[in-house]
Amino acid sequence: MFCPECGTENPDSARFCGNCRHQLSAPAGDSTVNHQNSVVEIASEPKSVSDGLKYGILAGSLIIPFIGLIMGIIYMAQGESEEKKDVGKLWLYASIGIIVFYMIISGDF
Ligand SMILES: [Zn+2]
Repeated sequence: MFCPECGTENPDSARFCGNCRHQLSAPAGDSTVNHQNSVVEIASEPKSVSDGLKYGILAGSLIIPFIGLIMGIIYMAQGESEEKKDVGKLWLYASIGIIVFYMIISGDF
């Protein structure tokens, strides 16, 4: 049977998942419970897909401000002139603004 937690295939006689130690509730050979488990697996699939999408958006929203922070630090470090320091500050403020914006719209933080 497949582990309902992580999807790892385990022997039918196994009482615990070999991968994540999740207790496999179905007694060996009980096809009814096995069938229920597979239904649960399918039903939980859209949730994991939307979780993946959420993490993708989150990762993307973190990379952009992260690049902005790096650009800001580089410009500030190179700042022989006031002009370059201003560009660095602009990058820093923009990236901080984006981070705050994503924190507000996601509401998960
Ligand atoms: Zn498992």
